[in-house]
Amino acid sequence: MNDRTFSMEFFPPKTDEGVLKLRETRKQLTQLRPEFFSVTFGAGGSTRDRTLETVLEIQGEGLAAAPHLSCIGSTRANIREILEVYKAHGIRHIVALRGDLPSGVADPGEFRYANELVAFIRQESGDWFTIEVAAYPEMHPQARNWREDIQNFKRKVDAGADAAITQYFFNADAYFNFLDECAENDIHIPIVPGIMPISNYAQLARFSTMCGAEIPRWLARKLESYYDDTASIKAFGLDFVTGLCERLLEGGAPGLHFYTLNQAGATSTIWQRLGLD
Ligand code: FAD
Repeated sequence: MNDRTFSMEFFPPKTDEGVLKLRETRKQLTQLRPEFFSVTFGAGGSTRDRTLETVLEIQGEGLAAAPHLSCIGSTRANIREILEVYKAHGIRHIVALRGDLPSGVADPGEFRYANELVAFIRQESGDWFTIEVAAYPEMHPQARNWREDIQNFKRKVDAGADAAITQYFFNADAYFNFLDECAENDIHIPIVPGIMPISNYAQLARFSTMCGAEIPRWLARKLESYYDDTASIKAFGLDFVTGLCERLLEGGAPGLHFYTLNQAGATSTIWQRLGLD
């Protein structure tokens, strides 16, 4: 397992209470020794300061942190300034994204796609940063078609991305098919599956509609059948997602990236069941 990368993702908390809760979550998850914690970046730079604060707190605890950075709605000068701050704090790992324009904002700024951000980071900072990008085994929801989406993913790799983290998915075959197509298109960076633990079906259904991740029909019906029996949803979710992770690792996935939603419980149970601790 040593050459694989196991990481976890947080979002920057909005309230003082959220900050305290995330510290508690981190205390538990740190014991599992993930390779790094990544911290999301709100649409249009809305969490810019909170992302930095969270990343610095993680670093201050002696752990590796990777801020996400989205470029849509930003200028080159904005992004340059953020990169300078990260460099000054010794941050060497970034997840580079296009992001989505917040509703009501019409000005896309100076970057249109994530490949332009990756190229800009390389131009500004050479090899200082390890750059991760997003990948979509079930296709990005705005992509015109599958082939173009793979070509667009390749643009990010050609611009200098070192590795990718996928959108979450519940169908392992979608991931393996995506890896095959990447290999056929001469894409050879590690593509780490993003893992979404299942604990709350209503929330999961909402997220999945927004980001274009498919909940297979049988899985949706099964989760619905528990109604508000959250204990059963959690128990089934742990079994299902652990099984998915096992299949991905057995099939050669170069690691796993957990979308923790700032909760320790499900991620640590899956991690322990996989024997990663
Ligand atoms: P891109 O790679 O630019 O792709 C976006 C769309 O444009 C795709 O349909 C693609 O096919 C098309 N496209 C790309 N390049 C071109 C081109 N040159 N010409 C024509 N079409 C092109 N969002 C946040 O706001 N903050 C976060 O912190 C965040 N973290 C994420 C982490 C991961 C691991 C993932 C998978 C997603 C994350 N997102 C985040 C969501 C992401 O910002 C959205 O999915 C967004 O819609 C696309 O971002 P991207 O970087 O994948 O864009």
